[in-house]
Amino acid sequence: MSFCCGAGMVGSIGSVRHSKTLVHNVPIMFCPVCDRIEVHPAIEGEYEILVEYAQGDKAPEVDFADFVSVDNKSDLFENCTMTDESASYADILKQQIDLSLDLMAVAKNLNDDAWREALKQRLKRLSERLKQYNKRKEISQRSA
Ligand SMILES: [Zn+2]
Repeated sequence: MSFCCGAGMVGSIGSVRHSKTLVHNVPIMFCPVCDRIEVHPAIEGEYEILVEYAQGDKAPEVDFADFVSVDNKSDLFENCTMTDESASYADILKQQIDLSLDLMAVAKNLNDDAWREALKQRLKRLSERLKQYNKRKEISQRSA
């Protein structure tokens, strides 16, 4: 499993900017706590070749899916906590919050104050994100 800030990375397909080129449909992993995005290590080689090619061509946008076919997405995202295809973003956040709460209990038993403090910060960010997300959803439902 891949981790960032102690939280599990979430597998997804997204757009990645590489200097002047925007690459669409790239298998990525992102951290729900700090929003760090990583190109999936399994396709990093292909991604780099495509970016080089696009930059040589001065293409402002390319579609990763047009050049590389990713056959087995579930294999690809095996080492991620989950993918956002099967779960909603809110579910992902909730699961991360549950996980952090479990770890808090462990940290408490170990009397590890530094870890507890880090987990507390993470929980705060995750619940803020969940609140923001729910608020946005409410607004879009109201206007629909
Ligand atoms: Zn992170």
